[in-house]
Amino acid sequence: MTHLNDPSLGFGTIAIHAGQQPDPTTGAIMTPVYLTSTYVQEAPAVTKGYDYSRSHNPTRTAMEQNLAALEGGSFGLGFSSGMAAIHCVINLLKSGDHVVAGNDLYGGTFRILTTVHKKFGIDTTFVDLSNLKEFEAALRPNTRLVMLESPTNPLLRVFDLAAIAKICRERGILTLADNTFASPYLQQPLRFGCDLVVHSLTKYLGGHSDLVGGVLVGNSAELHKQLAHFQNSVGGTPGPLDCFLVLRGTKTLHVRMERHCSNALAVARMLEAHPKVARVHYPGLPSHPQHALAMRQMRAGGGMVSVELKATVEEGKKVASSFRVFSLAESLGGVESLVDHPASMTHASIPAAERHKAGLSDGLIRLSVGIEDEKDLLADVEQALAKLR
Ligand SMILES: *Cc1c(COP(=O)(O)O)cnc(C)c1O
Repeated sequence: MTHLNDPSLGFGTIAIHAGQQPDPTTGAIMTPVYLTSTYVQEAPAVTKGYDYSRSHNPTRTAMEQNLAALEGGSFGLGFSSGMAAIHCVINLLKSGDHVVAGNDLYGGTFRILTTVHKKFGIDTTFVDLSNLKEFEAALRPNTRLVMLESPTNPLLRVFDLAAIAKICRERGILTLADNTFASPYLQQPLRFGCDLVVHSLTKYLGGHSDLVGGVLVGNSAELHKQLAHFQNSVGGTPGPLDCFLVLRGTKTLHVRMERHCSNALAVARMLEAHPKVARVHYPGLPSHPQHALAMRQMRAGGGMVSVELKATVEEGKKVASSFRVFSLAESLGGVESLVDHPASMTHASIPAAERHKAGLSDGLIRLSVGIEDEKDLLADVEQALAKLR
């Protein structure tokens, strides 16, 4: 079962089998964790394809092939974190190049562009990607890379991947889609014309909050060559145990995502009808401003729900601290439900005025809806909101 792009196979079959074969020496059905740094050579430079584990490791190869298949790509490159994967793409640029990025990117992506790469002469313009005119106006002759997320964090805005990719392709600009929030089960950006997909494996793909990792997936042999060179040269590669855990995680991705989505939709509907709620952000609700686009582009609305409570920062903190089934924590995408209060947690480093300008109100609560029983999640949300008077 090594066919990576066999269109006759369903997503779940690919998730369970792609990149994996029984171990040739024992028949073990699970890919072994190859805890080795080096490989014995039959003669100088005569190897079985592996010589040093920063460059390649069999457990990592299986994971990379599996993830490439899930995104419909021809190659995958594994990293020790999502940020290491993003860093690798920015390494394609040189001083004087320009980046255009969405204005509500993951905080770490904003930070690497503005504090790490800026000093190497790489400038970034942040724009509202829902406004294609504004987006096109931001492109310059030296723009080489467009970075986007859809749905975004934490407001779950959705952008037209095909339209953005088309504009970029016509101008020879590379598009990098961060697909962490959707997962390949819900959306495959390469199929809409994006050049590269990045994931934080830490989230839905790992799926069990037990590892940190990243991956890049694409289709171009030339990009593969350049990115693999950076991957090996910079060396932010994942260890084999983490790769094994990702492989174990992706085997249930399709089943987990179904439950994440149905639970999230139930929570979003319940919140929308709640008197203490000002607004619910969920792509699967008809009230979402890009609902129609989301339903064209995604299989379902995803597992993340953000809700604006009629609350101050202090009241928002109080509600976020009152959950019993949801755990108060950053991150997302694991089987267990998590609650985040962006104003005091994930987005606290943004000054209040800027936070409000970006649409992040003091009473905004972000939920990573897990795969527990729906009734328990609904009851937990209900009792936590009851803390608001
Ligand atoms: C978590 C996350 C990242 C960064 O990934 P790490 O694995 O934490 O380095 C990038 N993008 C998005 C959307 C994320 O949620």
